Amino acid sequence: WVFPKCDHVAVGTGTVTHKGEIKKFQAATRLRARDKIEGGKIIRVEAHPIPEHPRPRRVLDRVALVGDAAGYVTKCSGEGIYFAAKSGRMCAEAIVEASENGKRMIDESDLRRYLKKFDDMYWPTYKVLDVLQKVFYRSNPAREAFVEMCADKYVQKMTFDSYLYKKVVPGNPIDDLKLAVNTIGSLIRANALRREMQKITL
Ligand SMILES: Cc1cc2nc3c(=O)[nH]c(=O)nc-3n(C[C@H](O)[C@H](O)[C@H](O)COP(=O)(O)OP(=O)(O)OC[C@H]3O[C@@H](n4cnc5c(N)ncnc54)[C@H](O)[C@@H]3O)c2cc1C
Repeated sequence: WVFPKCDHVAVGTGTVTHKGEIKKFQAATRLRARDKIEGGKIIRVEAHPIPEHPRPRRVLDRVALVGDAAGYVTKCSGEGIYFAAKSGRMCAEAIVEASENGKRMIDESDLRRYLKKFDDMYWPTYKVLDVLQKVFYRSNPAREAFVEMCADKYVQKMTFDSYLYKKVVPGNPIDDLKLAVNTIGSLIRANALRREMQKITL
């Protein structure tokens, strides 16, 4: 991303590289962008973990976590704005309803209604993206397999609709089957590529 600020730009990239490798990753990114950033002054370098793991405890007594505080950024896409706004709204609605518009003091069980509603609606989305990330983001070849699959029109449609509706949209069984076969093919190719890459780097 490149966020324009008043007298500088904030440039960044997301990664699933583990902590120890981040400095190497930043150096490689800077090298790739060398021509574009020539003459520029680096003001500050930062790296932060993305809160993409829902917190084990999101409600306690009369406190409820929403958005990033609850760990609602989705895996794979890093999308957090929608889920932050949605969870905030769901939580507020649960409070208004349970407090009978402010006439009654709420407790933990009232706040748990928001959790149930949020989880019922989005748990499958988080689960699918979690599996996708585990399968396809674990190595460079696996990421290449993912890129290869994204050339497929069906994958593009499913991805677009899922982003748009914030739900795992139901697919067509025949196309799903083809997709499963293509996925296995891409992963096998990626695995073969990984072995070749290991030979080069050894
Ligand atoms: C670089 C970057 C790029 C991103 N790109 C995208 C994207 O393209 N699409 C997308 O959907 N999501 C994106 N996200 C994620 C998204 O920004 C967050 O998921 C979302 O903003 C979370 O909203 P929030 O209200 O939960 O938290 P925040 O937006 O972090 O809001 C929390 C607020 O609380 C304030 N605060 C903190 N402590 C205190 C305190 N003690 N007292 C008072 N106020 C306090 C903070 O200053 C902040 O304003 C991106 C995040 C980053 C960092």
